[in-house]
Amino acid sequence: PKLDYFAGMINGKKEDINTDILIIGGGPGGYVAAIHAAKNGRKVVLAERKAMGGTCLNEGCIPTKAIVKSAELFEHIKNADEFGLEVKEARADMNRIIDRKNSIKDTLVSGIEYLMNKNEIRVIKGSASFVDERTVSVKSGRDEYTVEAENIIIATGSTSSTLKIPGIDNEFVMNSTKALDCRDNMDCVTIIGGGVIGMEFAFIYSNLGMKVNVVEYFDRVLTMVDSDVSEEICKIAKQRGIGIHTGSKVTRIGREENGKAVVFFEKDGTERFITSDKVLVATGREPDVQGLELENTGAAANENGRGIAVDSGMRTSVKHIYAIGDVNSRMQLAHVASHEGMVAVDNILGKDAHMDYTAVPNVIFTSPEIANVGLTEDAALREGLNISVSKFPFGA
Ligand code: FAD
Repeated sequence: PKLDYFAGMINGKKEDINTDILIIGGGPGGYVAAIHAAKNGRKVVLAERKAMGGTCLNEGCIPTKAIVKSAELFEHIKNADEFGLEVKEARADMNRIIDRKNSIKDTLVSGIEYLMNKNEIRVIKGSASFVDERTVSVKSGRDEYTVEAENIIIATGSTSSTLKIPGIDNEFVMNSTKALDCRDNMDCVTIIGGGVIGMEFAFIYSNLGMKVNVVEYFDRVLTMVDSDVSEEICKIAKQRGIGIHTGSKVTRIGREENGKAVVFFEKDGTERFITSDKVLVATGREPDVQGLELENTGAAANENGRGIAVDSGMRTSVKHIYAIGDVNSRMQLAHVASHEGMVAVDNILGKDAHMDYTAVPNVIFTSPEIANVGLTEDAALREGLNISVSKFPFGA
């Protein structure tokens, strides 16, 4: 036994596991699916290579919203006088803002770990890759687990996409994950991309007192909301001093002698530039299939090559393999991933469940926030629907 012990230390542990359902990824798609399956009496194994909770808990929804709260509170305090409150001095401390965000995140991550234990879900910390359509190898350091499963749910999420432009590798360029851990004092930030993530950060930084510029390729920011809503938030952003440059194509990122970043972009045929301390690239997210070795299964990709193709029951082209959440590229929202997980598990349980995306709620945490549900007015008109439009002032 002594010899085996040392052999194990040198070569790593090997274990074969049989299970009803293997879930790859412990984000809001994966962990909700795992709990739903376990509660319905299925034996579940979940493989996660980083922390439980996925992008949403560790570097997405929750951390951004924690910082949104700090930033909004700071903005309120700066305007305290208007409310009849006298505040002598207010200062934003990036270190403590990030610490608070981390402690919220850690509490929620351990909450998910507790739920995994309570529901007797076996969590294997490691990177999963397909050996064949039924077998997945999960590697964790020197240890290797070979999992054979009746059904497999892929819930590997997405990662930030990057821009292929000169200067993108400069150390002052951040993606959203880096930005959420950035403790540096900054006076000014340039954000490339005026989508949801870009605009949420624009208001965070602006509320914290920084000068912000947003450079957007399309002719308006937040192209997923109605044009009048997008115009309204753009107007509010400009009133707050946020520079919005639409119809602008970023061409390169330079570096000044004093170390500042210079973002060059083309607008109306002329080259312009903005100087700042940091640059945040928020140009979208890509389905994460890296290392999965999907080619060892017959699971097909979407026609545009982005993400794994699924039917309305979340089945891939292989009957017992499902793909839920950001990795199927349908709608990149945490609660959508969770619901897709429930649908996949219901189908594994023998029900006939389908996803219905007609009324998905969606909130954008700018200041003020934007809420959507169902079709936008623009989309309804595009579809030739006979609609009537009502507007009511929020203040009233
Ligand atoms: P993820 O949460 O990405 O989880 C996938 C997990 O799989 C990860 O933990 C990853 O480590 C793991 N993994 C990947 N490959 C492997 C492998 N081979 N082996 C083992 N493990 C693997 N959505 C909202 O609804 N509201 C918001 O306010 C919101 N804000 C956001 C803000 C930001 C800055 C970002 C980036 C995203 C935000 N989102 C928001 C989107 C939301 O985070 C995602 O839609 C959601 O996390 C998708 O869940 P998922 O389970 O599909 O994947």
